[in-house]
Amino acid sequence: MQLLAGKTALIFGVANKRSIAWGIAQAFHQHGARLGLSYAGPALERRVRPLAESLGVSFVEPCDVGSDEEIARVAEKARSAFGEIDILVHSIGFALREELQGPYYNTSREGFHVAMDISVYSFVALARAFQPMLRPGGALLTLTYYGSEKVAPNYNVMGVAKAALEASTRYLAYDFGPHNVRVNAISAGPIRTLAAAGVTGFKDMYRQFAETAPLGQEITIEDVGNTAVYLCSDLAAKTTGEVVFVDAGYNILGVPVKRREMEEND
Ligand code: NAD
Repeated sequence: MQLLAGKTALIFGVANKRSIAWGIAQAFHQHGARLGLSYAGPALERRVRPLAESLGVSFVEPCDVGSDEEIARVAEKARSAFGEIDILVHSIGFALREELQGPYYNTSREGFHVAMDISVYSFVALARAFQPMLRPGGALLTLTYYGSEKVAPNYNVMGVAKAALEASTRYLAYDFGPHNVRVNAISAGPIRTLAAAGVTGFKDMYRQFAETAPLGQEITIEDVGNTAVYLCSDLAAKTTGEVVFVDAGYNILGVPVKRREMEEND
């Protein structure tokens, strides 16, 4: 069954074949969506174009979401190419590398600003720019992480930014409700991507994750893609403003201990 047949989706945040945005693009393609892809800038083009071509996608546009002019330019291009769109995916996050290590209180004013601008405000800016061309029944989707709710060492200002992103998801859901456009976030467990590599200690955290999570499994971009299909399809027609976990159940744990170690100690 193709859950997105007849729908047009724009996906922001493909950097390479490991990107969560790419997992979402593949799942949307399998479910019959017409796609457009956007990437941060010229340096990524040689990686993103072949991926787009492999799915027969011809709308492939650079857009630095730190620039209102670039967002406006892509929105205009999308209007000429598609007229209206049904789905917009924001799979973008960025913080200065030096902010993802050491104590949170060392966050610089500039580092705080950059993380909030690129990882949070850009979702609001995209929502505003694309609002006039979003078809009723449509959906906006962003990507978040559990570091918004609980302390994940070294995640620092990104945790604070994700908290703001989740709050923005609720406010946008309220704004877009009367247009029958839904706004949700997926909170994904750790996946080895370019963005994740910037977080100090990510590898250790990643290694321990599957041994600790209730389902005992790693999270893949396919897992996230499948949930994205559901949230952006009519199956989720009455779900908005939510943060949906794709984390093998990790977030339900009050005491995250490796299962094997606990059994050995019994
Ligand atoms: P990724 O590096 O593949 O994707 C991040 C994307 O953000 C890249 O495509 C990058 O080019 C883009 N980006 C950064 N600055 C930009 C700018 N100024 N303009 C436009 N695009 C810009 O890594 P990912 O893990 O796929 O990250 C996607 C989203 O998923 C992020 O919001 C991330 O925080 C979130 N997330 C990741 C994980 C994980 O473990 N990988 C877990 C939960 C949530």
